[in-house]
Amino acid sequence: MTSGPVASRTGAAWLLLALTLATAVVLALQPQLRSVATVTAGVLSVGAILLGVAWHRPKALAWPFLALMIAAWTVSAVLVYAQGRIETPAVALVWFGQAIAAAVTVHAVVTGEKQTGRSSTAWLDGVLIATVGLLVGVQIVAAETIGSTNWTTVVVASVDVALMSMLVRFAVSRRVMGPASLLVLAAAFVAIVYDLSSAVQGRRVALPGETSQILAVVFMLMFGAAALHPSMVDAFGSGTFARRRRPSTALLGLLPLVLVPSGVAWVADASGAENLPPWMVPGAGAVIAGLCLLRGSDALRSSEYLAEHDPLTDLANRRGLARAFEETPAGRDLSLLLIDIDEFKQVNDTHGHDVGDALLLQLRDRLVRATGSSGLAARLGGDEFVVLAPASEAAGVAERFLNSLQDPVVVEGLVLRTGASVGIAEASEDMPLAELLTHADVAMYAAKAAGGSRAMVFHPQMRIEVARCFTLSSQIRQLLGNDNPDVGRLEIKYQPLVDLRTGEMVGGEALVRWQHPDHGLLAPDAFLGLVNSNNLDAELDAAVLHDVLTQLARWRDQGLPILPISVNLTRDSLEDPRLADRVLAALSALGLPTSALRLEITEHDQLSAETPAQHTLAVLDAAGVLVYLDDYGTGYTSLDYLHRFPVHMLKLDRSVVTSLDSGQVQLVAAVSAMAATLDLEILAEGIETPDQRDQLLELGIHYGQGYLFSRPLTAGQYAQTVLGPAERPGEGPTVPGPRAARTPESSH
Ligand code: C2E
Ligand code: MG
Ligand code: MG
Repeated sequence: MTSGPVASRTGAAWLLLALTLATAVVLALQPQLRSVATVTAGVLSVGAILLGVAWHRPKALAWPFLALMIAAWTVSAVLVYAQGRIETPAVALVWFGQAIAAAVTVHAVVTGEKQTGRSSTAWLDGVLIATVGLLVGVQIVAAETIGSTNWTTVVVASVDVALMSMLVRFAVSRRVMGPASLLVLAAAFVAIVYDLSSAVQGRRVALPGETSQILAVVFMLMFGAAALHPSMVDAFGSGTFARRRRPSTALLGLLPLVLVPSGVAWVADASGAENLPPWMVPGAGAVIAGLCLLRGSDALRSSEYLAEHDPLTDLANRRGLARAFEETPAGRDLSLLLIDIDEFKQVNDTHGHDVGDALLLQLRDRLVRATGSSGLAARLGGDEFVVLAPASEAAGVAERFLNSLQDPVVVEGLVLRTGASVGIAEASEDMPLAELLTHADVAMYAAKAAGGSRAMVFHPQMRIEVARCFTLSSQIRQLLGNDNPDVGRLEIKYQPLVDLRTGEMVGGEALVRWQHPDHGLLAPDAFLGLVNSNNLDAELDAAVLHDVLTQLARWRDQGLPILPISVNLTRDSLEDPRLADRVLAALSALGLPTSALRLEITEHDQLSAETPAQHTLAVLDAAGVLVYLDDYGTGYTSLDYLHRFPVHMLKLDRSVVTSLDSGQVQLVAAVSAMAATLDLEILAEGIETPDQRDQLLELGIHYGQGYLFSRPLTAGQYAQTVLGPAERPGEGPTVPGPRAARTPESSH
């Protein structure tokens, strides 16, 4: 449909261009035809532009203005040729046309500048162009005062050279130009040459039969041809302006300016300034060369800056840091802080890189503020920042930065809490940067291993601890990859859950341990961080789930009752869309009821709004696998989770239970009241004293877990003490999540 007219309009443009060339050749040979041809070309050109505007409907007003400009010049030519003289109305019309040309050119350059944003070197280009224009003006004024009295030459020639320079700048700053833009540019150049050639003879229009009339015919028809071509729509519009060349190419594009001194000499010569001071032309060359050098050094400076700065945060990058380090005076006390943002990867994974970037920018601001003026903040990449600071101020910087993280960062309405692990290392005499960074890295790693959100100062002993961590880290990979029996094995302990009202054991929580060949039985705190940093969370959960379900089936086969066991899940498992299928398949493969399994999730995992976890947990819940919300009351508490996930029980964190000892009952009372309204049960973790139990009962809490009742037990001990001797009836009481109490499985 559209290819037909587009092709024919393109054809019309090329046809007119061909006609232009042919006419030029004919006019070169037949001077008597030149005046008629000029007027005809003017009429044709205006017609072609109007036709082009009607066909292509460009947004820019430049095209109608061009038509007006050519119309003015054509009428002026008619007047001159009719009278054989140049009179005032004809000159006024030419001035009018020239004003339009200047306006269109300036507007095109300014709009392009606005749409692409000014580069740091743009002002230099402006100065360059203005200087060239001025130089020519000065030359001609000089010529003027020497002899001739023709003002036309002075003003027109200056304006023309300035316009020409702007066109050069316009052309070199564009990467891609359609045929129409190229034709417009070429036509503009020809127009300027025509104008100049008349102006330097002290006239505004060519006289009949003059050679320069050929130029008038050529540029007018070229404008017309450009207007017919479909690419005319963005010859003055954003389509081409947005595609600017790189500054380096634009710089090269200033090369045509080397012609300016010769041009100056020519103009001066033609305007009859024989007495021009001899230094004028080399002077013009020197000024241009100087300005070009300045322009080049400016471009170089900006590329040096980019090489040493991080594009996102504008802080120094690794190279910038190395330079700053080299430049610190020898013998000065210097410390390096290496800062790693603790939850950054999670934020990036959950909320996307835009949010991650916005978070980094806000953290950058806080870091720069904490660093103050005496240090240098840098970003090494990812979520790793570095600060170089005087040794005496390093601890202060770390403290101020960590304190600033107490306030959450708000990005697009999301409230993000982050912590940071900071490693501080002091430089000794002649210590290379690489070694200082390694020390800080070790300290940072130690800070992270200690739970993050803290700063640690490097000391040599740390290397050993960190090395141990590295060994454990590689062993845990082997352990979960099942490829080396020498790294020990996972062991599950079971801690009973108790009905506080009756003292009855109603279920248990599976708690993982690592039976390590060298270090003995390791608690989760000693290795879960390593599991996480090796991205093995889901593997660990899968291993625990498998062991627990196998164990439940074994107990059942021994004739013991099935009491529900709750298993802790990490965020990675919950984000896996296949989790529900896997869990339900495993349960049914072993012939276990879904009520035998409960899952514990925590709010610390900051599950995102569109997480697959929401669906996964809904499916599991509908199938009868109930969900507990673990570590409730540790600061992250929000009602949002309770709305989004099918939670059946809140597990009140041990720290909340401990706070009862100092008389702080308000939090427990409030949670208890809220749970009652939402029809949720509460289980209190970490009950160690009868006092705590009694207080909890008084506050309406019915379930508990803690050393008061039992420590985590081996499977054998659990079977003995909780599930009881095999003759115990197969229907044990269970923890009745509100829905569990109503489901048939729970009363089994
Ligand atoms: P959690 O899920 O909140 O588990 C409760 C922790 O409190 C357990 O520590 C338990 O031994 C401890 N605890 C229970 N009663 C008392 C008490 O009266 N006093 C004191 N001081 N502590 C008590 P544990 O076994 O060291 O587990 C720590 C955390 O490790 C767990 O917190 C859980 O977040 C994580 N975890 C444990 N096992 C697994 C697992 O299999 N998978 C995953 N993903 N995480 C696990
Ligand atoms: Mg738990
Ligand atoms: Mg807990």
